[in-house]
Amino acid sequence: MRNALIVRLWEKVADVYRYLSVAAKAHARRPPIQFDLPFELPMRLLGDALDGAIIIDGNSLIRYVNHAMEELSGFSIGELHGQSMDILVPPDAGSLHSEKVADFITTGRKSTVLGHVRELEIRHRSGERLPIEMKAVDLGCFHGNRYFGAFVTDLRQRKKIEARNAELMALLEQQALTDPLTSLPNRRAFEKEAAGAILRAARSEAPVTVGIADVDHFKAINDNYGHAIGDAVLCAVSEAIRSVARDTDIVARLGGEEFGLIFPNTSIEQSGQVAERIRSAVASIQFPVNGTETVDVTISIGLSKLIEQAGLDAALGAADTALYSAKGNGRNRVEASRP
Ligand code: GH3
Ligand code: MG
Ligand code: MG
Repeated sequence: MRNALIVRLWEKVADVYRYLSVAAKAHARRPPIQFDLPFELPMRLLGDALDGAIIIDGNSLIRYVNHAMEELSGFSIGELHGQSMDILVPPDAGSLHSEKVADFITTGRKSTVLGHVRELEIRHRSGERLPIEMKAVDLGCFHGNRYFGAFVTDLRQRKKIEARNAELMALLEQQALTDPLTSLPNRRAFEKEAAGAILRAARSEAPVTVGIADVDHFKAINDNYGHAIGDAVLCAVSEAIRSVARDTDIVARLGGEEFGLIFPNTSIEQSGQVAERIRSAVASIQFPVNGTETVDVTISIGLSKLIEQAGLDAALGAADTALYSAKGNGRNRVEASRP
């Protein structure tokens, strides 16, 4: 008997505790309004907020917008008030906004929008789509009507800056991979391309050949005609190599008067033919100097198989040995490394 009384008393205490914790949670969700202030003050503040603010009812009808929302949407408060929220939603954003709200209210399904900050688009009065960031909240029921509100931030400026930064990053990346004199890919780009070619070759088991082309007696050109003419000759050589190489070949300036070549899907014999065409194209350059004179330019080329296991450095080392041999055998020649 006494025990039963204790149990009932304990149940009462638990009930009171449950009530208090529910009440505390409800209080925590209540907006932090100072009730000793006139209700209009926070409304005026909201009216002048930098972000757009909008309240819709359970039928998706717009019941409140502030000035920033007017400015962002291009519609006046009068034009928006009482309109369906669909007026501000781009036409291809899935089902109608009003249908989504109705679905949410009737099914009680978890919303992917309410309570989250989402990047979306709204439709401006002109029909233009504007990027926005939106935080939508369930405002609850008042006098039997359901309400939802949202803060809307204009993202146009942020998007512009992001696009500009992306452009600058792409430009910097491009500059970091390009030789400024010849506009050819530089050594870093060459290494990147070679790594890609090695991976592709490993998948397809197709052969890849690398080559080094070096201008013959280039020091003499500099010494005889000056550094500026030397630079111009390097540009003419790079142009000649590029014009003869196939679209799939990679031509880069490795530094000084040295050019790197990658011939994907090409055996050493086939690449010998391409390299021969490159050599011949450079040899036909007659670079004009001093009005009447021309400078003859030739290159020597060393070739080697780019074997996956050995890597680029080993392949370049072997190509360099072949190049050294081409120089020793009289220059203006193509030689392949012997395995
Ligand atoms: P080899 O036929 O054996 O290759 O002889 P070479 O004279 O071409 O080779 P060497 O290594 O003796 O000289 C290369 C010269 O290239 C030396 C260097 O001053 C010059 N050089 C390197 N980079 C540039 C450049 O960007 N512009 C100019 N004009 N000259 C450069
Ligand atoms: Mg050299
Ligand atoms: Mg040289």
